[in-house]
Amino acid sequence: MSGTEHDGLFIGGQWVTGSGEARIEVVNPSTEAYLGSVPSATRADVDRAVQSARTAFTDPTGWATWTHAARAAAMRRLADVMERRGAEIAETVSKQNGMPISMSSALEAGFPPILLRMYADTVEALPQVTRRPGMLGGEFEVVRKPMGVVAAIVPWNFPQALAMTKIAPAIAAGNTVVLKPSPETVLDSIILAECLVEAEIPAGVVNIVPGGRDIGEHLVAHPGINRVAFTGSTAAGRSIAQVCGQLLRPVSLELGGKSAAIVLDDGDIANSIESLFGATLFNNGQTCYLSTRVLAPRSRYEEVVDTLAGLAQQAVVGDPLDPATMIGPMVSSRQRERVEGYIERGSADGAKLVVGGTRPDREGWFVSPAVFAGVDNNQELAREEVFGPVLAVISYDDEEQAVALANDSDFGLGGTVWSQDPTRARAFAERIETGTIGINRYLPDPAAPFGGIKASGIGRELGPEAVEGYFDLQTIYL
Ligand code: NAD
Repeated sequence: MSGTEHDGLFIGGQWVTGSGEARIEVVNPSTEAYLGSVPSATRADVDRAVQSARTAFTDPTGWATWTHAARAAAMRRLADVMERRGAEIAETVSKQNGMPISMSSALEAGFPPILLRMYADTVEALPQVTRRPGMLGGEFEVVRKPMGVVAAIVPWNFPQALAMTKIAPAIAAGNTVVLKPSPETVLDSIILAECLVEAEIPAGVVNIVPGGRDIGEHLVAHPGINRVAFTGSTAAGRSIAQVCGQLLRPVSLELGGKSAAIVLDDGDIANSIESLFGATLFNNGQTCYLSTRVLAPRSRYEEVVDTLAGLAQQAVVGDPLDPATMIGPMVSSRQRERVEGYIERGSADGAKLVVGGTRPDREGWFVSPAVFAGVDNNQELAREEVFGPVLAVISYDDEEQAVALANDSDFGLGGTVWSQDPTRARAFAERIETGTIGINRYLPDPAAPFGGIKASGIGRELGPEAVEGYFDLQTIYL
């Protein structure tokens, strides 16, 4: 076995020896070759990481006591370091989770520096204390205080972008963090740790505990944690919400989705192929917000199915490190089997597999992009998140039915409206029950709040607004 072997866990600003023997091994999903390993944190290691974050938080001259401007300056240093190592970050992520390199360069390498600088600017402009006259006479002050130690738990599909979506606003507000990356993508967290050291972010402000579900559970329930920020599946989100509910611990949950792409009768998807791909198949279909339920007017149903079939057939499936690749592999053989299970059951349920859904003749855990026609909105393919390159096309008769079908979902994360009339599309978009929605494209922007309703989660990340979720407000009546 030859790969990159890392010793030590990043706790308290140093590489410390973990208390267990177990290691997390990472395999390249495109080649099935071994990539490397890191120590798996134990519960005792989590205790140590939380303690180190608490020490950093309560230090009388530490991070939490710095002025907003001082923290902003440190965050800009980190942004510079991460930007310099961007190519390495993108490649490491793509090798681990199969994300095409064009996407990992833009998002995994691109988002963290943008977020660090944005929250540095945001916090610098936010007063720590505001003084206002009361309505009953006298005055009061409102003090923005950091909450304490934040547990940040992230999945494998966008490991760096989703980690920084939590870390940047959390540390901007003066909190300290314990990050738990997903076992599939632990190697990029080593680079993050190295960047933190190089940028001289004080010891203990960010600590990293690689591990699985058990370690996540221990962290969420830990008495030393003040706030939880989670991205992952709805099932895990529900169980975390239960624990946090019992503890009355603030939590934000970014969960799964089954968003609708609503093609209106004047929608021109054939001339929006690039945007359509980004909205429906981005990152091998392993993206939470994708519009994988395509609602097509009955009058144009065949045409929509043909356009999507063409999109799926023309998408270049291959090595994620090749800049021309549009679709890489599923993250693991287990995930491929799960996706294939949905495809099998979709056909058994009576939907028509128009294209794809097979294993290309090559090594790695690939599934060729699949399009199903004749799907009913009550079928599993329309109700559950597949998390693979599988689109389900559903027909509708009129706009009212399109709205009803789009909203008839347990989820409410993303969605898209396709129309040549911006006013009509804009009015239609507002009728869809979802946290975010795009018109003729879907592109999450760091400056725009992102998150879901219903089974897609609670709370919003991104945008300057998100930083407020990492402060406690204290009112002092004067
Ligand atoms: P997952 O829920 O299995 O795991 C996510 C992370 O949580 C991992 O680090 C895992 O180890 C940890 N974890 C799992 N169960 C836990 C528990 N009970 N307590 C604490 N930690 C726990 O999800 P996954 O399969 O790794 O990721 C894919 C899912 O993430 C999809 O459902 C996708 O839609 C969702 N996702 C959502 C968003 C969003 O912003 N809404 C973004 C990306 C991914």
